[in-house]
Amino acid sequence: MKAKIQISENVEIEVEGENTKELFTQLASIEQTFGMKSQLCGKCKKTTNKRYIARNAGGNMFYEIVCECGAHLSLSASKENPNNLFPKKKEDYTKPDSPYLPDNGWRIYNTKTNKME
Ligand SMILES: [Zn+2]
Repeated sequence: MKAKIQISENVEIEVEGENTKELFTQLASIEQTFGMKSQLCGKCKKTTNKRYIARNAGGNMFYEIVCECGAHLSLSASKENPNNLFPKKKEDYTKPDSPYLPDNGWRIYNTKTNKME
């Protein structure tokens, strides 16, 4: 069975699953990752004007959603499922007690500290 999910005004994604559990898992993953583009930015609290960024730095790929205010939301992949991206809301997912990042994972470059905060 197939399902379509509209993730923005001009982007629709079709997913396929053998049963409702597979289809639900696919839809949840798509919504969790791509739905972040229309969610509140953790810094400026706006829902508009975000874009997807995929960049290669030193041979490593980085996937982010970037807001017009300059804030970035990094997307991560787990070791178990390296082709499946999800919004990074914890500092270190390998540690079960890792705290959640402030601002729902959105970070902006601080020119005074030279860090993403
Ligand atoms: Zn913003």
